[in-house]
Order: sequence, then C-alpha cells, then structure tokens
Amino acid sequence: MSLEELYKEVILDHYRTPRNKGRVDPHDVALERNNPLCGDEIELFLKFDGETIQGIGFEGKGCSISQASASMMTEKIKGLTVKNAGELSESIKRMMAGEEEGDLNALGDLVSLKGVVKYPVRIKCALLGWNTLAEALQESSS
Ligand code: ZN
Repeated sequence: MSLEELYKEVILDHYRTPRNKGRVDPHDVALERNNPLCGDEIELFLKFDGETIQGIGFEGKGCSISQASASMMTEKIKGLTVKNAGELSESIKRMMAGEEEGDLNALGDLVSLKGVVKYPVRIKCALLGWNTLAEALQESSS
C-alpha cells in the first residue's frame, strides 16, 4: 500500500466513523463556520476547565476531507491546554501551506492531511475545522 493510499484510508476511516461527533452540552463556546467553495459546514463546541480543553465536539456536513479533518482535530485537541491547541492549529496551517514538514510521530492521523497539500482546492476543506478552532479559542480568551 502506498503512503497516499494509506492516507486515504485514514481519512475515510474518520469520515465514516467520526470521533467526537455531536454537541457538547453545556459548552463554553460554540462557533459555526463554512467553506462555501465546497459546501462544507462545521459547528464546533468547546468546554473548558481552566486552561484545559475538557470537552470538544462538532456537528457538520460536507466532503470527506472537511469532516475527517474535523474528527482528527477533536481527537488531538481534547485535553490540551488552550495554548498548546493554538500552537498545534498554527503548525497544521503551516504544514498545509507546505511551509513545514510536520512531526510524523507527534501528528498521528493528522499526517494523512499532508496528502491534501497537492490539491490546493482541498486545503480549505482540510483547514475548515482548524480555522474554526483557532477563532473559537480567540473568542474564549477575549
Ligand atoms: Zn470540502
């Protein structure tokens, strides 16, 4: 199996069996964003315990990349501090812009998003969840 095929499998797995799908109630922040180019929608719910992201969930619809990326994000972000989550989202954005290779061990399933870098039109799909997260974190700290 080529690396690209493996990445596709990981994306399809998250698309078919999304992690942390659904509202978090009660939540501290809820934010909805969409990617009109593709018709993807994400609504993100965050619950904080001090500086830690204690709960995270999402609702959404759209292409497999947008939904799989959101699923991977929630899995990775849950339990992180707001600061670390913000740093990770910046790192993913740099990786998707081709500016950074990304740490394969630290990224886990997120590495599969690298396969998308070759398809510029899809990068907005992959980043929808991450951009929503970054905005939600800013909202929570203001
Ligand atoms: Zn899409």
